[in-house]
Amino acid sequence: MTAEIVMPAELKKMDPVFGQFSFDNHEQIVFCNDKDTGLKAIIGIHNTVMGPALGGTRMWNYANEWEALNDVLRLSRGMTYKSAITGLNLGGGKAVIIGDSKLDKTPEMITKFGQFVNSLSGKYITAEDVGTTTEDMDRIHEVTNFVTGISESRGGSGNPSPVTAYGVYMGMKAAAKYQFGSDNLAGKKVLVQGTGHVGETLISYLAKEGAIVFVSDIHQDKMENMVAKYGAKIFMGSDLYSADVDIYAPCALGATINDDTVYRIKAKVIAGAANNQLAVEAVHGQILRERGITYAPDFLINAGGIINVYGEIVKYDKAEAMRRTENIYNTTLEIFNFADQNNLTTQAAAMQIAQNRIDQRKKENTNK
Ligand code: NAD
Repeated sequence: MTAEIVMPAELKKMDPVFGQFSFDNHEQIVFCNDKDTGLKAIIGIHNTVMGPALGGTRMWNYANEWEALNDVLRLSRGMTYKSAITGLNLGGGKAVIIGDSKLDKTPEMITKFGQFVNSLSGKYITAEDVGTTTEDMDRIHEVTNFVTGISESRGGSGNPSPVTAYGVYMGMKAAAKYQFGSDNLAGKKVLVQGTGHVGETLISYLAKEGAIVFVSDIHQDKMENMVAKYGAKIFMGSDLYSADVDIYAPCALGATINDDTVYRIKAKVIAGAANNQLAVEAVHGQILRERGITYAPDFLINAGGIINVYGEIVKYDKAEAMRRTENIYNTTLEIFNFADQNNLTTQAAAMQIAQNRIDQRKKENTNK
């Protein structure tokens, strides 16, 4: 006799995977489990029409498996659109490892994860993300070729963050051109939220151009470092979102533009690196539009990192990666114009152009 599986009532109503809120016709979802190393991972392959699904591996201490599944579904979908809008021959994928990267990660666990990636024969290609490092990618490379972001000393492209920052800078300049009539940031007040890998390089570009840079971070020492190195000012106000600045650059967390903040924002341009900045894309994108705030879609302007790792697949050339990243400036302006012509939010405009490219490629693939 088999025992009845007891499920909470609210879960009974929902199909566990295909019924997930963030499920978006993902092609494949792979659950990886290894008892010996304690590895529990999920690889999400959203769409491979444009090419193999490339996206980083995030190691995070998720509250539960539902949260991990939701994250991998959401992030892998984002990668599909990021690569399509950037014009890369890549699909969208992402992986999550459940656990605290500081406490639970072991070399054996990472090697085992690499073997799971290898078992997908290149349909998914991994890279670094929050909680994983270049060293982890080097380790994965020992068991599979389907990994990017390996050390420069091993023939890879290294840490993608400086290239990401350059793309964000280009997107910010394009947004300034559109909003203020000039892309010159000298004298513009810019608030950078998050002074990590991307934030710091962005601050260096801004300081060099003569912008007045305000910084905010949960770590005081990081902010003081920005003051000492780049002459930035620490944001002292009680409400970051209503700060009297020209440009707000979210470079820490997602969803900072939400019901609580969207009407308080005084900046006329939002351009930053954080993924998924709009808590609800359609709602908050529309409010920004109505308030006359130029929002540079995050997945468009933070694509420098993927452009850089893509180079590893097609033969790495740093100069070419920087040239493509610089082109984010032109693409951003094109998106703003397309949005105006079609009465769309900038987010919706970027999504639509990306989706058109995917549909077109699907047709071409079918006709082959
Ligand atoms: P990071 O971890 O190096 O830096 C994040 C910084 O934000 C840290 O200094 C942290 O202390 C700070 N922070 C955290 N919570 C904060 C809060 N509530 N207020 C202010 N600061 C806070 O990360 P990163 O690599 O610089 O990436 C920044 C963002 O850009 C992330 O959302 C990431 O997903 C996104 N992104 C990064 C890349 C890349 O190449 N690194 C590419 C695309 C997108």
